[in-house]
Amino acid sequence: MTPKFASGSMHGGLRSRPSEPTTVIVVGKNMGASVSATIDFRMMRRAYVERVRVGDVPRHDACDASVDLMRATHHFGVARRTTCPICVEQQLRNVTYLFGPRLPRSGKCVTSAQSLREFNSRPEQFTAYTVEVCMSCRWNHVLSAAPCGGRRVRTRATTTRAAKVR
Ligand SMILES: [Zn+2]
Repeated sequence: MTPKFASGSMHGGLRSRPSEPTTVIVVGKNMGASVSATIDFRMMRRAYVERVRVGDVPRHDACDASVDLMRATHHFGVARRTTCPICVEQQLRNVTYLFGPRLPRSGKCVTSAQSLREFNSRPEQFTAYTVEVCMSCRWNHVLSAAPCGGRRVRTRATTTRAAKVR
C-alpha cells in the first residue's frame, strides 16, 4: 500500500511532512499495512507540536487538514476534552480511518462505533488509524494505529482444536 503519512494523503487529509523525524517516515511507509499491535504516536506528536511552537515547522504545514478530512471530522469526529495544542481555541476531535482489503486506498472513515465493531468482527485484517483534528485551525496528527478484524485465524484454530478433541 502507498505510504500515507510519509508521502501521500489519508483521505486527502494528511499531507506529507518531510521534516518529521525519520522514525515517523519509517512508520509512515507501513501506513495502510496491517499492524499486529497498537502503535502509539503520542510521543511523536509531542515532539512535532514542540517543533511547531518553536517555529521549526511552519504552522501552515502543521495545520493542513484537507476539506475531506475536515468534513469527515465535522460529521463523524468524536469530541475530546483536549484543547488544540496549536491554536488553543477549540477542543480536538478524533476521527478514525480503516485500511484493509476491499477498502479505498485512501482509507474508509469510520462513521460510528457500531461500524467499527462490525469491521472488528470480520475475518479480514484491517488497521484503524485514529487522527486528531482541530476544526478551528485545521491541525491534524495521527494518534495511533491499531489492528482491527482478522477473526478468521482464531476461528479456524478453534475449529481445528475442537475437531481434534472429537
Ligand atoms: Zn487548532
